[in-house]
Amino acid sequence: MATPHNIYSEVENMLREYIKANNLRLTQERLLILQQICSYEGLSFSPEKLYNDLKEKLPLSLATIYNSIDLFQQAKIIIPLFRQDGERTNWYELTLYQHGNMMFTCTRCGRQGSFKDATIEKVLRNKKIQNFNALSFSVHLFGECKACRKPSKNN
Ligand SMILES: [Zn+2]
Repeated sequence: MATPHNIYSEVENMLREYIKANNLRLTQERLLILQQICSYEGLSFSPEKLYNDLKEKLPLSLATIYNSIDLFQQAKIIIPLFRQDGERTNWYELTLYQHGNMMFTCTRCGRQGSFKDATIEKVLRNKKIQNFNALSFSVHLFGECKACRKPSKNN
């Protein structure tokens, strides 16, 4: 498992590259929010949680946190979590902790999310493949999210 420090340098590089490629400005606030996200060590977080945890160290507006979350999402540093019924939550996690997670992507709007499934995970971990030693896996489902699914008149 990567240490929180390694994770931080990796995500900071991801952010710097994205900022540079898109001619944006890297602010101290964004770096501090990113540090805070890394301190959760892979646990999910919401904008409100970040706001509450940061307000002692750094008085930021909730709007600044939301803006940074949008940016981190565009830079593919974090990913929103979805409920099993496809409803998007206000919680996010670092993409670097996604190994072993099942991902899904809406092919219409690009919305992404992840979920965990112990049964699928067990099957994949026990799967023996000739001449290959699997160390990790990823499962990626493609389809339509609830918002993009047109209501059918036939049902
Ligand atoms: Zn969609």
